[in-house]
Order: sequence, then C-alpha cells, then structure tokens
Amino acid sequence: MPETGWAGPGGRLSGLGVSQGRAAGPLVRMAGPPSLPAPRPVADPEAEAATAVKALEAVTADLNRRAAAARTGASAGAGGGGGAGAGGEAAEILEALAMIADDPMLREEAETRARGGADAAHALEAAFDGHRDALAALGGYLAERAADLDDLKHRAVAAALGLPMPGLPDPGHPYVLVAGDLSPADTAGLGPDVLALITERGGPTSHTAILARARGLPAVVACPAVADVPDGTIVGVDGASGEIALGLTPEQAAEVMERDRAERARLAAATGPGRTADGHPVRLLANIGSAADLRPGAEGVGLFRTEFLFLDRKQPPSPEEQTAAYAEVFERAEGPVIVRTLDAGTDKPLPFLGLPEEPNPALGVRGLRVDRLLPGVLDAQLAAIAEAARATGADVRVMAPMVTTPAEAAGFARRARAAGIAQVGVMVEVPAAALRAAELLREVDFLSIGTNDLAQYTFAADRQHPALADLLDPRQPALLGLIEACAAAGREAGKPVGVCGEAAGDPAVAPLLVGLGVTSLSMAPSCVPLVREALAGLTLEECRELAREALA
Ligand code: PEP
Ligand code: MG
Repeated sequence: MPETGWAGPGGRLSGLGVSQGRAAGPLVRMAGPPSLPAPRPVADPEAEAATAVKALEAVTADLNRRAAAARTGASAGAGGGGGAGAGGEAAEILEALAMIADDPMLREEAETRARGGADAAHALEAAFDGHRDALAALGGYLAERAADLDDLKHRAVAAALGLPMPGLPDPGHPYVLVAGDLSPADTAGLGPDVLALITERGGPTSHTAILARARGLPAVVACPAVADVPDGTIVGVDGASGEIALGLTPEQAAEVMERDRAERARLAAATGPGRTADGHPVRLLANIGSAADLRPGAEGVGLFRTEFLFLDRKQPPSPEEQTAAYAEVFERAEGPVIVRTLDAGTDKPLPFLGLPEEPNPALGVRGLRVDRLLPGVLDAQLAAIAEAARATGADVRVMAPMVTTPAEAAGFARRARAAGIAQVGVMVEVPAAALRAAELLREVDFLSIGTNDLAQYTFAADRQHPALADLLDPRQPALLGLIEACAAAGREAGKPVGVCGEAAGDPAVAPLLVGLGVTSLSMAPSCVPLVREALAGLTLEECRELAREALA
C-alpha cells in the first residue's frame, strides 16, 4: 500500500465511506438466488435424480455445519444466524432448516420428478414448490415457514447447478464481504471472519451502515463498480474516505490490518468523559442493538434500538424474553440507558407485528404510530422495560421513535410513567416535531434528535438512496437549523437535548452539533474515541463558530 494514496496495483474504486477504519483482505461476494436456466433435455434420468439428492445432502450438511459453528460461537456465516449473543437460537433455527432439507418426502418428490424427465434443478424447484404450497395451505405458523422453503430451494438449486449457495459466504478465512445490499438480518448474522463490508447500493444512514459501525467494521456503500471486481482479489477498504484499493499483495494487506490495529489502540487509550478543550462537558453515549454491542468507553447508552432484538421473528417475543433481553443490557451497561421503544416499519421490518403492506411505508404506520393499530405492543414493552429496570436497579429511561405532535408525546409519557418509568423522552425525527420542540418539552424530560430520519423527512430524500447522499449530508443548513431550534428549546426548558443519529458519530460533524447547543452525542461505540478526540481539540467558542459558518 503506497503511503500517499489509497490505491492498489489494480487501481481504486470509490463509494461512500460509512464506517471508519481500514481493513484489507480477499473479496468474497454474497451470492444472490440462482436464476433457473430453461429446462434441458435429460439423457440419464437416474443421474439427474442422483444430482438432486446430492444437492439436498449438500444443503443439509452446510446448514448442520453452520449450526455447529453457531453453537460453539464460531463464525456461522449463515443468513440470520451466528450473531453474537444469539448463537444458541441461531443454531436451533439452522438445525430446523437442515431437518426440512433432509425430509425424505422432499427427496422422494425430487427423485420422482427427475425420473419423470426433469433436470435436477427443475426437479428440485418443483419438489420445493409443491411442499411450499402444501404448507401455505395449512395456514398459521406452518404457512409462515413457507418462506424458509424458498430459501432452501434457492440453496438446493444453486448446489445442483454448481453455483455458490445464496446467503452470507463462509469461505473459512477472513474476508471482505461484497454484496448488492445487506438486509438487517444479514448484517446481524455476520461472523468474525468479516473484515470489512462493501455494498453496491445503500446510503449513509442505511442499516448496513449503522450495523457496520456497531460492529466497528470498516464499510463502504453505494459502490456499484465493485460488482466487476473478481472474487478473491485482495482489496483494501477505507471506511472513512470510501476508497477501495484493488489488487493488494498479501503483505500489503497485512500492513493495512496492522496499522488499523495500532490506530484503534491509540484512540482507545484516551478515556474519560467528553469535553471540549476548555472543559465544556458533552456526554458521549453509545448506540446499541443488544448487549453484544456494549464496549467500555461511553458514558451510558443514548439509544438502545430494541427492534434489532426481534428483527427476524415471526412470533412476538414473550414478556419474559423481552425482560431478559433488556435486563442483560441494563446489567452490563455503564451509566444510564435510554431504551427506544420498537421502531418498526420501512427499513426495519418486524414480521411478528403482522402489519399490513403500505404503498408509502416511510410515511405510514411506523415507530410510535404502530400504537394506533396495535396498542398492546407498546404497553407490553414498557412493562418489560420497567420490570427489567426494577430487577437490575439500573438508571433506565425510555423514548419513543417517530413522534410528530405534542399530543403524541403526552400520550407516550403518560403510559411510560404509568408503567413505572420516571424519565421519559421522545425522538425528534420529523420536522413537525422539531418545529414544536418547546411544546414537546412541556410533556417530556428530554429530546433525542434522530438525524437519520430528520434528514430523510426534511429533504424528502429516502435515507437508503445512494443517489441522494448529498441531501442527507448532516451539514445541510436546513437540518442544522432544526437541530439549533431543538437545542434552544432545551436550554429554555432546562432539559437535555441530544443527537443520536449517525451524525453524532462523525468526528467532522460532532463539534458542529456541540456548537449548536446539543448536550449529548450518542453514537456507535466504535466512534466514541474519534469523537472524544475531535471535541478535545476545540473550545466551545470554536465549536460555535463552526456552527455559525455551517448555518450560513
Ligand atoms: C435516526 O433516525 O436518526 C435514528 C437514530 O433512528 P434509526 O436510525 O434507528 O431510524
Ligand atoms: Mg429513526
């Protein structure tokens, strides 16, 4: 790797850097579902039947191997499996899928179809589709498993065609993962072998970006050209600048990894509360999705995204399961924990809620609005949070996402307090809420500005859209003006106003937010050291000057 530029002997690509840090390793692509070629004439039906059976065996063996890896806490790498803290559950899911792939009825059906003249891939397709329709007709829980059969079918067809199986790869060595895009469940299932992420699509506040930061993985999104880089090419990824160096040697890759380790160690050596150079305190808090994301160094948890616990679920979590998940975080976190109630919808689908499809999901029933259709969900969650807080004695606060009016804030505060939670806040993610910040603060104890959604709704720009990244830049003056208005309302009311969107973890933006008057910054734990360093280098007046310039 040349000192001066982030390019390799094979040149460079660039995308949007969304998660700081550098890493290098061989590129491995996540395969999509195989496309089924046209049926081909079959000369030897017995050979086709044998190929179909072999494909089913390969799928079963692969799932069982991943299940075993998930159980031992090693890299399972399977879609939806292997997430830290969820190894046992992931293993059970993978074993259940392996049993379906190993079902003798499925195998016989595929063999019969092949002996009847279908090629192996089409015989498998027809056998799985028959099975799927039978399950769907049964309704209820079994019908929900029909989607799993599609995933298994894609795996079996890929195996029969000699293609890589779809889903997260598991090459057995550290690698840089490349994908068209990653679902929240894919990202949650990433194993420890993944060194960095590159996606063709995705935006700066997409959940790929958020989860990459939570894991401290360098990540570049919105890089369509990576589609043409061959598998196995050694690439270097700079998650800050968004540059990708192509064709490194193994020695250059090792050097990149070593420098990144040294830089992380240097930053982690600085500890203590957040302060500007002249001692103005700014609380540095962590954004987490589960206890597995907790790291030492932050002054508390400013955003506990509870929906990440339940993303893949088709059944609602029981009260006991919810309480246990919250209690695990409360026990292990240092400092106060702000729990955000479920934020379902659009980019965070929660199938267990069974919400109807909507033509405009980002503008529909999401966040706190789900309470309009399913009031029991919020009360059950508040009760579980309150129970976990009582059991652990932790300093627990709650806030609601996607609050739009002071009346919604008042309703949420009343119910949270009735559940026994004293400190209640709301997120400011919608311009209407920012414009009424003072009125919101009459109802609640604090505001937390979600700049990811506030930018999306202020600029009418989909937060996942790579072509609109300039509109989603947190330095846009219109966005900064709304943040300033919220901070001013907080000063007036004597109540804290923080930022918990991705902007808070950007060392170039955090000082500006402090200059606008926000009192805390909540970010991916991996960003805390960089932001601490950035604030320590500037006085409060210098931060204010940066804010004035940016607003202008
Ligand atoms: C936000 O919108 O800024 C936020 C923190 O919430 P999420 O990214 O989970 O929507
Ligand atoms: Mg949001």
